[in-house]
Amino acid sequence: MSHIRNFSIIAHIDHGKTTLTDRLLRLTGTVSERELHERMMDSNPIEQERGITIKMAPVRMEYKGATLNLIDTPGHVDFGYEVSRSLAACEGVLLVIDTTQGVQAQTLSNYEKAKALGLKIIPVLNKIDLPAADVEGTMLECMETFGFNESDFALVSAKSGLGVEKLLDKIIEDIPPAPIANDRPLRALVMTSKYDTHKGVIAYVRVVEGTLDKHTKLRTMSGTASFTPVEVGFFNPQMQPMVRLSAGEVGYIATGLKDIHQVKVGDTLTLARASAEVQPLPGFKEPQPMVYMEVYPIEGDDYPLLQDAVDKLSLHDAALDFAGTHSQALGNGLRMGFLGILHAEIVLERLQREFNLDLIATAPSVPYEITLTDGQKQLIHSPAQMPDPSLIREIHEPITKTLIFAPEKYVGPLMKWIRERRGELLTVNPVGTRTKLEYRLPLAELITDFHDTLKSISSGFASMEYQVVGYEPVDAVKVTIMINKEEVEALSIIAPRDQAEMRGREIVTKLKEVVPRQLFEVPIQAAIGGAIIARETIKAYRKDVTAKLYGGDVTRRQKLLKKQAKGKKKMKQIGKVELNQDTFLAVLKR
Ligand code: GDP
Ligand code: MG
Repeated sequence: MSHIRNFSIIAHIDHGKTTLTDRLLRLTGTVSERELHERMMDSNPIEQERGITIKMAPVRMEYKGATLNLIDTPGHVDFGYEVSRSLAACEGVLLVIDTTQGVQAQTLSNYEKAKALGLKIIPVLNKIDLPAADVEGTMLECMETFGFNESDFALVSAKSGLGVEKLLDKIIEDIPPAPIANDRPLRALVMTSKYDTHKGVIAYVRVVEGTLDKHTKLRTMSGTASFTPVEVGFFNPQMQPMVRLSAGEVGYIATGLKDIHQVKVGDTLTLARASAEVQPLPGFKEPQPMVYMEVYPIEGDDYPLLQDAVDKLSLHDAALDFAGTHSQALGNGLRMGFLGILHAEIVLERLQREFNLDLIATAPSVPYEITLTDGQKQLIHSPAQMPDPSLIREIHEPITKTLIFAPEKYVGPLMKWIRERRGELLTVNPVGTRTKLEYRLPLAELITDFHDTLKSISSGFASMEYQVVGYEPVDAVKVTIMINKEEVEALSIIAPRDQAEMRGREIVTKLKEVVPRQLFEVPIQAAIGGAIIARETIKAYRKDVTAKLYGGDVTRRQKLLKKQAKGKKKMKQIGKVELNQDTFLAVLKR
């Protein structure tokens, strides 16, 4: 029997995955007390700062003669595809549940992913050190929801270490050993990859069958890339070079290849000389960008810097999609595709922080599939690309299946609100003291302030999870926004026809609050197909501010104007008007 156990830790966000990983690293002596800092698997500074895990992180531990390969996974829905990939490399999972919170939306969706792959699931009730912990209630809820028995559970405090040794024994006992298959032709599954300037593309792999060492010439099964590894090894959690990787093991192969797209996630690596009979392992669906934004440098001259920065980031991030674009109002920029809003936020933050770029990002848009009257189809990624209405036969928008968990008393208000967001209720089921709601909901509704509103209606108690399931027809129109009589495509939106007028009015009202005053009166208008549906006017700026000074003191007046000019930093000139990032965020708030 193999001594290898491969498992993932899955949980709803903040239920303690990373803290439990830290604890396991310490107990197994993988990382010494001295080296360990809090949440050390979150290696990226943004992960550390925000307290979230973005990228899966494998680590090998030795315990009582067994080799344990653990894969820490991200909890946020944008990075849900990383969870599926981690699971493909495992025989079991620890399903962590915070006993002060109970079962949440992602507890359920992660459970279902693990169940579908036939993995052994160990439910781990965490945070039992806290006075607010309801261990018994959470256990009952899990038994009822998932059908566990009392003996299945591990009770732990990841923070204090209570119960974690027992959990380690349970892992060795309950999780099936990795199958032994060293004598078969090599097949290694690529779980994820990253880029290293010296070692090239580094593939994170699970060796499913066969063995390899750094002298073995390899090739990808989906493409044409072949290479002799620069290095092979495992994670402890840093990269630790080794002579050989064998069947059942999780580790890395530094390929020396220069393009991250040459080693696709989900691809199978095999021997360069493998016979045609070797079949690729079942791969993964490539993650599709579903949220698009246009990004413009505030200083037009910075465009080449922006291009260069995004090129660099995309080396590490195969899910990032981008193409050059030009807007009449904003100049040269990039249209960027992201997995979701959090992914977008993180990338934009890195561009500003690591590359010192001042940027304006437009409101996010989902992709729309447009069928033209002549039968041609096109996928558009921003309102600016919307063809003339007379040329459109049909529009399809992305649809999600959305899961919401909420305490009973918030269900009424939530249902009312989600109906306004075009949600179609599919099922309602009680889970313990809470209710599980399943919706069919357009993605466009989710990428605005949906999550914030969900939290505010439910006083923070509701949780959600979604998955894009396809495209469906929508009767939508473009709402054009004009500032100072000039169309600002970057502020325009695509909205369902029956909401378009209301949305246009909302945006104009919001813009009136945030568009900085100018030296002259500025009209703000919304139009649908050439007809103006809303208008507001922003009064001239200088007149107003200096009016209080009753004309007198010239130097004082100049000082005041200078002070205001300073406050106007990071403005983007649009025609004769200057706008800042708040203007573009205003479109999001409903
Ligand atoms: P993740 O999002 O699932 O990776 O969760 P983290 O490991 O980042 O933990 C979220 C928060 O819960 C952090 O502030 C942890 O310190 C805290 N936490 C995790 N486990 C425990 C525990 O057993 N007891 C207590 N009191 N706090 C915990
Ligand atoms: Mg984490």
